[in-house]
Amino acid sequence: MNRHLFEIPERVAVGEFRGAGACVSKAPSRDVLTCQAVTGCHGNRINDMNTRKDGVEFLEKRLSGNASGIRSFAGKFFVGTAVHVAGIIDRVIELAVSLIVISVLVCPLMLVLMIRKLVNGNPVFTSQIITGAGSRPVEIYRFNGIGVPFRDLPLFFGVLSGRLALAGVAIRNWGEREPSLEGAYIGMMKPGVISLWDLRRSSKTAHEGRQAIEWEYTFRKGLVYDLLLMLRAIPMLVFGESKSEASEIFRIMGLDLDNLTMDEAISVIGSHLDAKKQRRIFFVNPDCLNKTVTDREYFEILQSGDFVFPDGIGLIIAGKMLNTPLKENINGTDMLPFLCRMAAARGEKVFLLGGKPGVAEIAAQKISENYGVTVAGTSHGYFDHRSESAAVIEQINASGASILLVAFGAPLQERWIHQHRDALRPLIMMGVGGLLDFYSGNIRRAPRWVREIGFEWVYRIMQEPGRMWRRYVIGNPLFLYRVLKWKILYQR
Ligand code: UDP
Repeated sequence: MNRHLFEIPERVAVGEFRGAGACVSKAPSRDVLTCQAVTGCHGNRINDMNTRKDGVEFLEKRLSGNASGIRSFAGKFFVGTAVHVAGIIDRVIELAVSLIVISVLVCPLMLVLMIRKLVNGNPVFTSQIITGAGSRPVEIYRFNGIGVPFRDLPLFFGVLSGRLALAGVAIRNWGEREPSLEGAYIGMMKPGVISLWDLRRSSKTAHEGRQAIEWEYTFRKGLVYDLLLMLRAIPMLVFGESKSEASEIFRIMGLDLDNLTMDEAISVIGSHLDAKKQRRIFFVNPDCLNKTVTDREYFEILQSGDFVFPDGIGLIIAGKMLNTPLKENINGTDMLPFLCRMAAARGEKVFLLGGKPGVAEIAAQKISENYGVTVAGTSHGYFDHRSESAAVIEQINASGASILLVAFGAPLQERWIHQHRDALRPLIMMGVGGLLDFYSGNIRRAPRWVREIGFEWVYRIMQEPGRMWRRYVIGNPLFLYRVLKWKILYQR
């Protein structure tokens, strides 16, 4: 999967951009590149090409300090003043926050660690040389021998001295090679105690990869965006990196889930398409796992699936409870853009089955426009599953699709796939829940920042309270209780 926005020759060296250092610590304006274009999640191929061209032009303007594109003197003066004032406010906030954190948390902890040093000789700090603003080496300090997040508290000394920002690009070791233009540009920005990359990594939603996310951040950076980023980072303290190693299999309530990144999942699916092997792929969220307790047939169908991926913040919390950190939150809706791009590149066709009449057609149009994939056919999901399935299967097989997305909701979709697996010709068959409702625009999906802080379920309750409140308000605590019980009874 190509995670680079631009194809830039390797000969472009970091040093060639040093002259741009003056502009990179300023808040950049948001312009031509939308988040979707940066992350590669939206836009058809022609749009992508235009976006690449626009992106290169915009980057050139930014490097020459003329990002806003405003030509009049008054306009330039206004924008220049606004950027300057935002920079001052930004710095005042940084100073205030770092002074508070240092006096309330860092100093008392430092005192304790100094006493520890006297007792057992353990050093108070560890140091690290990182790439600072303007690609210069900078030394930062962390507390030695204590866990996250307290370990990182001395980073606020860096904020106080101006070497680090509160919000910035992710901290990167000095000397890490940046082979692309985007990487070189990102390397010019000031690193932050909090970064979009760290935030998405903690919420297990960093599907696009580090460079694309950091690149997105450079175009979004601004006073308000950074303040909101800091607020969004608070849940990071809860979901933050675990010390345990991520294993390939995540065993929960008797079910083995595949613990992969989105990138890994897509390449595994690609390799099964290559091998012409039929595979059933399912996703489970806390509601699905609750259902398996009373519906053992559903449990067995999931168990017989070739891949079962963990979907949702409930599974991430469960992963922490069971000391098996999840690599990423993998659900069908997030996977679709990556899957479709891979399918488009290989010339594979997709069939969309499910949703109310008309929904799959609209979704098909949007999906093929946005990701360039051929949708070979669609059908709604409200046919008589006993008497009309044969005709639907015939339609799917005749379409020549190698990827079938079934969107009936769980466990109906998993049952249907399982029951008809031998008659169905597509190689990859997935149960994708409400995906077609989201992609057709029938139901709005929670904005990305809501998903990043793990509150997509609250958004779903607000949209369909009658149907969703039981699933989440009762289902979520019940699920956590069941995970805890399972851990006590079965996990050693
Ligand atoms: N649905 C369907 N056929 C049915 C019942 C449901 O096609 O017989 C569709 C329904 O229109 C909706 C989807 O299945 O688009 C279920 O969405 P939901 O959000 O409940 O699924 P989840 O993601 O929660 O499993």
